[in-house]
Amino acid sequence: MTTESPLSTARSQLRGAIDQLGLPENAWHTLSTPRRILQVAVPLRRDNGDIEMYNGYRVQYSTTRGPSKGGVRYHPDVDLDETIALAMLMTWKCALTNLPYGGAKGGIAVDPATLSDRENERLTRRYTSEILPIIGPERDIPAPDVGTDERNMAWMMDTYSVNAGFSVPGVVTGKPIVLGGSLGRTSATGDGVAIATREALRVRGINIEGATVAIQGFGKVGYWAAVALENMGMKVVAISDVNGGVKGFPSVAKLWEHFQLHQNLDFPGADRLTNEELLHLDVDVLIPAALADSISEKTGLGIKAKIVVEGANGPTTPSGDAILRDKGILVVPDILANSGGVIVSYFEWVQDKQNYFWSAEEVKGNLSSIMMKAFKEVEETAAKKLVTWRESALMIGVGRVAEAHRLRGLYP
Ligand code: NAD
Repeated sequence: MTTESPLSTARSQLRGAIDQLGLPENAWHTLSTPRRILQVAVPLRRDNGDIEMYNGYRVQYSTTRGPSKGGVRYHPDVDLDETIALAMLMTWKCALTNLPYGGAKGGIAVDPATLSDRENERLTRRYTSEILPIIGPERDIPAPDVGTDERNMAWMMDTYSVNAGFSVPGVVTGKPIVLGGSLGRTSATGDGVAIATREALRVRGINIEGATVAIQGFGKVGYWAAVALENMGMKVVAISDVNGGVKGFPSVAKLWEHFQLHQNLDFPGADRLTNEELLHLDVDVLIPAALADSISEKTGLGIKAKIVVEGANGPTTPSGDAILRDKGILVVPDILANSGGVIVSYFEWVQDKQNYFWSAEEVKGNLSSIMMKAFKEVEETAAKKLVTWRESALMIGVGRVAEAHRLRGLYP
């Protein structure tokens, strides 16, 4: 039996990129080691007066190309290894898109659905104060991820600012607009996933109008991707969340309306399906936009989609990846496909630094040009080096970080 985890996947991807780039073994030593790891105990006073302890993490994987940058996840499965893996992916993603950042990730092992709003706020503020010494607009800039949203970012920004004695909007991204957030940030990751999907269809010679798409995950990434894909003329035929999937709904907007009202996908007249059945639908594009490891040795064989666009971080294990490659399925890797979120986070940080805010059109236009440039580089490198798009994207991202290490030298 293979034991695959987000960290083993991320490490084997790095190993592959280093070997394909022909970098010396010293590069493996420097690039496979996170720069800074902070594990914190986060005490929470529940509304009933009970005190509970949670484990929190912040991993600054790299600061070689700039301050570290990455989301904060609230999920029961959060642990140190997963946080390191996600921080590593952020590092290659920021380098691939040429943002002046390193990579980071953080989180708390907690199910946010078990917290009242006031408990969530207290937990977020305490976590922020525990990691406060190592974050800041010039050091490390958190953002939302699974289980967190703009409310958490507002509480993080406020906690940091109260301690600084003045407002520091640039300490986090993904904030509400009135606190220095950017137009277009909420939908940015999904918008980017849709751009990647459109371009992959073009490369495969499939008509965008009417192309069929199945999406695993109906959260911040899955929902906004679905909206953008429909706007581009594609047909979103199935969507799932943690409780399973649905197909045969009239439109994403109608399904979302139902979901908001009832918090479930039991759309009247539509068919329910399991998450595995959704992965195995005969569609043009499959978009995993939930958690890691959903396309594995077990689920990979049944995949019939022509293209997989990775909305989630690390949704494909190495054995799942090998199956997709053998089947000739084009995989747009996570560090390219879901980079729209960190790209617009970068715009938010730039706007906060300048106290000058852009129009929605400017944000969308700049997002599109950065993504298209990265997309083209990945496509061209894959063709030139005869590697998969994942290998190509990693070679570009890892190669840039390795080059930055080389030029900076080793202190002392
Ligand atoms: P979210 O919490 O908003 O949504 C997650 C969705 O996945 C929910 O619909 C949830 O029900 C579903 N889900 C959870 N477990 C599942 C399971 N076992 N099977 C099927 N569905 C399941 O999170 P998000 O922000 O949309 O993030 C989703 C993925 O995208 C994560 O891997 C995240 O790291 C990645 N990502 C997010 C952003 C961002 O800007 N939010 C940016 C880049 C990458």
